[in-house]
Amino acid sequence: VAIAALALTGCGRSESSAGASGSAGGFAKDSLIGVALPQKTSENWVLAEQLFNDGLKNAGFKPDVQFANSGVSEQQNEISTMVTKGAKVIIVGAIDGKQLGTQLKQAKDAGATVIAYDRLLENTNDVDYYVAYDNFKVGQLQGQALLDGMKAKKANGPYNVELFAGSPDDANAKVFFDGAMSVLKPKIDDGTLHVLSGQKSFEQAVTQGWKAENAQKRMDTILAANYTTAPLDGVLSPNDTLARAIITSVKSAGKPIPVVTGQDSEVESVKSIMAGEQYSTINKDTRNLVKQAIDMVSKLQAGQQPDINDTKSYNNGVKTVPTYLLPPVIVTKANAKEAYANDPTLSKLTQ
Ligand code: BGC
Repeated sequence: VAIAALALTGCGRSESSAGASGSAGGFAKDSLIGVALPQKTSENWVLAEQLFNDGLKNAGFKPDVQFANSGVSEQQNEISTMVTKGAKVIIVGAIDGKQLGTQLKQAKDAGATVIAYDRLLENTNDVDYYVAYDNFKVGQLQGQALLDGMKAKKANGPYNVELFAGSPDDANAKVFFDGAMSVLKPKIDDGTLHVLSGQKSFEQAVTQGWKAENAQKRMDTILAANYTTAPLDGVLSPNDTLARAIITSVKSAGKPIPVVTGQDSEVESVKSIMAGEQYSTINKDTRNLVKQAIDMVSKLQAGQQPDINDTKSYNNGVKTVPTYLLPPVIVTKANAKEAYANDPTLSKLTQ
């Protein structure tokens, strides 16, 4: 019976898949689609929940969207449950992209397609596609914004800076940092930038769990040890949550606020930018990323190949994952109004 049902589903697809490569399967329109999100470490993840629920429903699918607030094993269980319930596609925003191998293999063995969402799934063959904003570019934009912001305040260096990175279990964290360092390292090497703490490696700069309190504590320690008299001109922060923690630390040390970068266009950070405190953020409109992921699902449902625009950047240790990258946009006070013009929430903050 199961085979007959499968065959029927297969028939349905041939109408809508004319001209498609045919390698990608196809499944019933009202299928279950699993979305396994990580912890709510930043607003983008919170926004994604509703967007996936509404968008998948509007496209005719049955969504099953889960967070894994208590950690990796919860996410592993959620993915297994999605497989058991017969999800045709499983979209994963991993807490730790290296620890889902068993569950992703279960998904593939059951015939599901696996899409890595925002964060790459690593060390596994069992991931079909990756959809994200260009992470290396995010880092490059942050590095350049840090330099530009400091130059605008003080035309000539040298400048004292400190470096923060994201959580080491998140595949994006190293890519953001490498992108930023592609801009900053030459300036450290030529003496334009000084890192008084001496903490210049990714391993030294990481912030476990993307937690604000960890960044704040590290900044407190660095300030006390190195900046009692020396000025701090800039801080590379990988995202907005950590940027605000860094600013809190600097303020409580009674120091002037340095140029601080960010990412995600979180409401409190956009307010801070408009108030002249945080210097920059990155706009990675979650609506567009979710839309792109759902478009992949619709293509797969129709038996077509999803859109891919990068086939070489994201090697996960086992394979190079076909990827669709969206372009991130740098936002400072100078272009905020324009950057958020069609965002109903953020546009209100830039009037
Ligand atoms: C996302 C960032 C976010 C961070 C913390 C990363 O994987 O790409 O946008 O700031 O997770 O939630």
